[in-house]
Amino acid sequence: MLEVRKINSLYGKAHVLHDLSFEVPHGEVVALLGRNGAGKTTTLKSIMQLVRPASGEILFRGEKITGLPPHRVAKLGIGYVPEERRIFSDLTVSENLLVGQQPPREGAVTWTEEMLFDLFPNLAERRDNRGKALSGGEQQMLTIARTLMGNPLFVLLDEPSEGVAPVIVEQMAMVIKKLKREGLTVLLSEQNLHFAQAVSDRAVIIESGSQMFFGTLADLAAHPEIRDAYLAA
Ligand code: ATP
Repeated sequence: MLEVRKINSLYGKAHVLHDLSFEVPHGEVVALLGRNGAGKTTTLKSIMQLVRPASGEILFRGEKITGLPPHRVAKLGIGYVPEERRIFSDLTVSENLLVGQQPPREGAVTWTEEMLFDLFPNLAERRDNRGKALSGGEQQMLTIARTLMGNPLFVLLDEPSEGVAPVIVEQMAMVIKKLKREGLTVLLSEQNLHFAQAVSDRAVIIESGSQMFFGTLADLAAHPEIRDAYLAA
């Protein structure tokens, strides 16, 4: 569904991604793993074209998306949930969801507020509360729910387990498994290997912006030396 082919991304003169290549097959959950500063966020931003790769190309459903403006990438059905939660703090949970609403998309689930409240029961209880009254974990869930209101085919999640309580991390894992069952394709960046193992089919490991491993979680489990070399203990 998504093919990243030899991309190189830079911030000014800082060369961050080096000939990075991997694929995200349709209907799978792929974890992008690596230590702090390895280039995970830059990879997700490069897919969204928020950072323009200097070379290489990215294909989504066979169509080249490198060079498109970010809103066109979103329009093709790629939803992006950045690490920093982007909710409207003075709007209620329901109003935040309405802001994200988009027309139905062929091949994608058409999400309604009620479907999302089934998926995120905590948000249902807080539907009339303003964004700023929510906990960090609830804000993270609201950001994901609002992205789903855009009826994406493919979702990029930047460190969904980062900085949220363990009980919310468990709920997040359940949500990702349900999204997969609904047919969504997911690429998530993670430092939490345990969480990634619970939800992913495949993993890409990057170190200093280069790909060190791409394979199934079973392959990775069979090579603990790779895990030890490139992932935080
Ligand atoms: P983290 O887990 O800390 O978010 P990451 O794997 O997502 O790490 P990136 O945020 O992609 O890593 O950063 C990769 C490298 O690019 C780091 O060395 C970082 O300092 C650098 N970098 C990130 N954003 C910028 C920027 N706007 N300008 C210059 N350098 C940047």
